[in-house]
Amino acid sequence: MMIDLRSDTVTRPTPGMLDAMMKASVGDDVFGEDPTINDLEQYAAGLFNKEAALFCTSGTQANQIAVKAHTQPGDEVIIDRLAHIYYYEGGGIAFHSGCSVCLLEGDRGRFTANQVADHINPTDDPHRPLSRLVCIENTMNKGGGAIYDFDELIAIQHVCKQHGLKYHLDGARLFNAIVETGRKPAEFGNLFDSISICLSKGLGAPVGSLLIGDKDFILKARRIRKVFGGGMRQAGFLAAAGKYALLNHIERLSEDHRRARQIGDLLKKLPFVTNIVPIDTNMIFFQLDSSMPSDTFLEKLREKDIYALALSPQVVRFVTHLDITDPMLETLDKELKSI
Ligand SMILES: *Cc1c(COP(=O)(O)O)cnc(C)c1O
Repeated sequence: MMIDLRSDTVTRPTPGMLDAMMKASVGDDVFGEDPTINDLEQYAAGLFNKEAALFCTSGTQANQIAVKAHTQPGDEVIIDRLAHIYYYEGGGIAFHSGCSVCLLEGDRGRFTANQVADHINPTDDPHRPLSRLVCIENTMNKGGGAIYDFDELIAIQHVCKQHGLKYHLDGARLFNAIVETGRKPAEFGNLFDSISICLSKGLGAPVGSLLIGDKDFILKARRIRKVFGGGMRQAGFLAAAGKYALLNHIERLSEDHRRARQIGDLLKKLPFVTNIVPIDTNMIFFQLDSSMPSDTFLEKLREKDIYALALSPQVVRFVTHLDITDPMLETLDKELKSI
């Protein structure tokens, strides 16, 4: 029994999802004629109380389109130094949008409204780039799946409004925050100018992300997606998987969170585990002592057909997802104790 804890991107479509994909009606989406994509986009927009949405190939593409649509070359993007849009998207802010960044140091990737206010450049000083966009990530991947405090998100929105800044949410794992806090998607839709969500992380679809916003923004985003080479044709087969995921795989994310906390309890019992980052959602980040470098630990796990990611020479990441079951946790417990 292979236990793959590297990422929540490793899931395979379920039989129900495959069935929905096989039955999808499709058309040419570049012509706007794929009914399954149109339905998914409308459904997602409605869920977030926004006017429109755009089906994108990946979360990276959705985020980078958003940055491009909100900015002009030379503008500055205010973002946490650990944010996926900055840290894990290959320098895309510079590559696609020609923008500079103002990097904030948050608590597990979560900065405050005061930090934003302190880093907005004066518009009457020609030395300084124009601050244009604030990017939030919720849940925060490199912060160990940390959830943003909703009141802080409201406070940051006020600062953005006051200074005419756009406000984007990288919500690759927003539904993990939603099931954990009981907030509604529309509450996030009402706060942000744009939101990206991943269908291919915890929601378990094989491909795809959505960018959500108002009509004019999505019209612009659709043009940018084409320029970025992201115009797809009969991709309704993929959109059907995404719609199935939104209808069937949101509530069950709480099981991933429960299992992540259970794994945390297993790790606490191991003598070579020195620190576990608080487990807010489906990610478990933990530190190993000098007797057990990450590479050694991963090698020992691989021998048992268990897979994880090393974040540094002493820090390892486990992520729970749709294909991690309770019997696997029992095996994991047994194998961890035997190391
Ligand atoms: C995974 C992820 C993305 C998008 O990644 P893709 O692999 O391009 O789909 C964006 N933001 C965060 C926080 C992520 O974890």
